[in-house]
Amino acid sequence: MKFLLVKPNPHKNSINLQSFMICEPLELEYAAAVIEQMGHTADVVDLVIDKSFLGALKADNYDVVAFTSYLVHIGVVKEYAEQAKRYNPRLITVVGGVHCEVVPEDLEDANIDVVLSGGLYALGGVVRGIENGESLENLKRLGRAPKGCDFQFTHPNRAKTAKYRQFYNYIYHDRCATIKTSFSCAYDCDFCFCTRLGKYHERPLDDVISELEEIEEPNVFIVDDNFLSSRTRIREFCRLLDERGIKKTYIAFGRADFIAKNEDMIALLARHGFDAFFVGIESFKTSELGDYNKRTSVDVNNRAVRILERNGLQCYSGLIVGFDWTREDFDGLINYLNRFEHPMVNIQPITPIKGTPFYERMKDKIVEDERRYENFDMAHAVMLPEKMSVRAFYYNIVRAYLKTSASAKGRRYIKERYGKAVYRRVRKGAAKIAMQYFKLILKPNIGR
Ligand code: SF4
Repeated sequence: MKFLLVKPNPHKNSINLQSFMICEPLELEYAAAVIEQMGHTADVVDLVIDKSFLGALKADNYDVVAFTSYLVHIGVVKEYAEQAKRYNPRLITVVGGVHCEVVPEDLEDANIDVVLSGGLYALGGVVRGIENGESLENLKRLGRAPKGCDFQFTHPNRAKTAKYRQFYNYIYHDRCATIKTSFSCAYDCDFCFCTRLGKYHERPLDDVISELEEIEEPNVFIVDDNFLSSRTRIREFCRLLDERGIKKTYIAFGRADFIAKNEDMIALLARHGFDAFFVGIESFKTSELGDYNKRTSVDVNNRAVRILERNGLQCYSGLIVGFDWTREDFDGLINYLNRFEHPMVNIQPITPIKGTPFYERMKDKIVEDERRYENFDMAHAVMLPEKMSVRAFYYNIVRAYLKTSASAKGRRYIKERYGKAVYRRVRKGAAKIAMQYFKLILKPNIGR
């Protein structure tokens, strides 16, 4: 059988980091490996780069078309599924991805045959079911097979994205691959979706290092929800890098409390090629950190950023903007960030994501139509700001960017650290996002 595996292009209204980064569809590369191991063929189309879904579908005589989907993609994926069924009603349509694993009912649709709420663990059973000519009812049931947590899958088949790989980047790093060394997160921040994906577990490092050896790109984005899980694991990771002579540049997510307590580990990682950590600073107010169950404090965050700076690592800070914020709160955020040497920030309005405790607490306050999935991009306001208009809220977000990472000083720093070509690419992405925000300032278009 022939499978077409599809990474969707987000809806044009979504504001997303894709303007700064295009990551390889790792989950589809894993799926391709599983499918081919079972004796079938799988092609991957990345619609962020190759824009035509129907063009890809018509390129071969596919039996199954499978999509990966985050929350923001759901509307787009349903449209693709409809196009697929219209083109060939005999095609079997499958949807997978993290949202399916937590809120599968959002993907129920007349044109979607199988929702893989069991993730990759269920894929093999579904493929076997299709081979055996099982009924759609049975295929749907197979898609709901329970998720395991050993993650003993074949390495992702990166050859499937060979023609796209030159375009994969992560913000300031061109030619960047991704790798996953652990799954889910051992913490339970109130607003976070990652931790709802199942029990935290780690891949054996020997296997991770073997996969790293297969990667050709010089830059690697480690997409673990929190790479900084333990000193022992970090030491062993670095030891294996030395032993196998692997020299690459790494970017990863890490918690501030670990960084604050373990400067020696950060220094070790810096010596082994780590260039940046994405740290969920979340707020400059300790009270908000408590509300989010973040289990850190402003003081811990400050120490973490200083440690990264001292060791020559860039800190990409994730900040959450509350719906009860005043203009003074935005001023406070700007002043706080500018105390650091080179604040590189991602500023997001707090967004209740289905499946999280925060959603359960806040769902009655959501004014956005929840079927406009594209607006749940963590950049649109989906609840009404309490102390200012929606327009002013967007304006203040843009103002915070312009006065921190997008300031003249911030731009100069990026050019010096990463070079003119990267600077131009990032500037283009930032201009696109700024335009989207300016349109929202003129016409907020919330809840209609
Ligand atoms: S925000 Fe970070 S630390 Fe908190 S649960 Fe999510 S991934 Fe884990």
